[in-house]
Amino acid sequence: MAKKGRVFSGARPTGRQHLGNYLGAIKNYVAMQNDYECVYCIVDVHALTTVETTQELKQNTFEMALDWLAAGIRPEESILFVQSHVPEVMELHTYLSMVTQFGKLTDLPTFKEKVRQQPENINYGLVGYPVLMTADIVLYKTDVVPVGIDQAPHIEFAREIVRSFNYRYKTKVLIEPQVKHTEVLKVVGLDGKDKMGKSLNNHIELASTPEETVKRVKEMVTDPARLRRTDPGNPDICNVFTMHKLFSPQEEVDMVNTECRKAGIGCVDCKLRFANNLNKHLEPFRAKRAELASNPNNIQDILNDGAKRARAIAQQTMVEVREAMQLP
Ligand code: ADP
Repeated sequence: MAKKGRVFSGARPTGRQHLGNYLGAIKNYVAMQNDYECVYCIVDVHALTTVETTQELKQNTFEMALDWLAAGIRPEESILFVQSHVPEVMELHTYLSMVTQFGKLTDLPTFKEKVRQQPENINYGLVGYPVLMTADIVLYKTDVVPVGIDQAPHIEFAREIVRSFNYRYKTKVLIEPQVKHTEVLKVVGLDGKDKMGKSLNNHIELASTPEETVKRVKEMVTDPARLRRTDPGNPDICNVFTMHKLFSPQEEVDMVNTECRKAGIGCVDCKLRFANNLNKHLEPFRAKRAELASNPNNIQDILNDGAKRARAIAQQTMVEVREAMQLP
C-alpha cells in the first residue's frame, strides 16, 4: 500500500525507556509505520545542550535503540539512526540560523524554562535548539511531524523558519512540515502527581524484571483519602486505576472500579493485579529485548544502516539547498 508521506520524530538518548515514553511516544511511533515512511532519530546532539558529561551517551543510545526495536520499530522498513551520524544536519542548521531572528529564539517559553533550569549553563546551543530541530525535520524532506498539542508551537516555529528560507532564496526546496496531532497521554509517575520521568525517579522501566516491576508498582500512591483498608476508595482520582484501564482486561477494570468504591478490594491487591497484567503485557517485549541485547553488534549495524539511508536523503537535500542559496 502506498504510504501517506514521510514522518520524522526525534528524542534525546535518555537510556532505558519508561512507561511514559512508551505510552506517550513509542507506541505511536510503532503504529505510524503502517501508514507512513518513518524516520526516527536519537538526537544525541540535542542532548549536548543539557548533559554535563558524555560518558553515558553511547550506552543510553544503545539502550534506547534496544527499547524502540523491541517495542516494534521495524528497521528494515523505517529509518532508525543517530543524529550525529549525519553531520549534514549541522550545516543546514547553520544556514537556517541566518534566517532566524535571535529575539524570537530567546522569547520562546522552552528557552526561558531552560534558563530557569540551568542558569549556570545557558549555552549557545540552547538558544539554537529549535533551529537544529528544524534542520532535522527539513533535511529529511519530512511531510508530517507527530506532536502533542503542547508541542505544536515548535512545529509552527519550524514552518516559519522554512518560509523565511524559501522566501529569502526564492526557492521551494524546503518543505513546510505539517503537524499531526497525536493524543497527548500524560502518564503520571509513581507519586501520583508529577509526569512520569527519570529525573524524578517516579518511573517504571519497560525493561525492568517482573520482580522489580512489582516492587515499583507497590510504591504507587493511591487515593490519598483512603487511609485504611476498610475505607472506600475513589478510582477516579487513583493513578493505579488509570493504569488498570491501560493494561488490564475489561472485566478486571470493571471489578476494581466497583469493588474499590465499597472497600471490597484493598490497594495492595489492586496494585498486585495491575503489576501482573503489566508484566504479562511486557513479556513479549522483554523477550525480544533480551534477544536483541545478546547481539550488540547487530544493533550497531541497524543504526549504521539507518544512518546510511538517512544520509542519502540528507546529501541530496543539501545539494539542492546549496544550489538554491547560490553558494559558490
Ligand atoms: P525528549 O526531551 O527528547 O522529548 P523525553 O525522555 O522527555 O525526551 O521524552 C521522550 C518522549 O516520551 C516524548 O515524546 C515525550 O512526550 C514522551 N514522554 C516522556 N515522559 C512522558 C510521560 N510521563 N507521559 C507521556 N509521554 C511522555
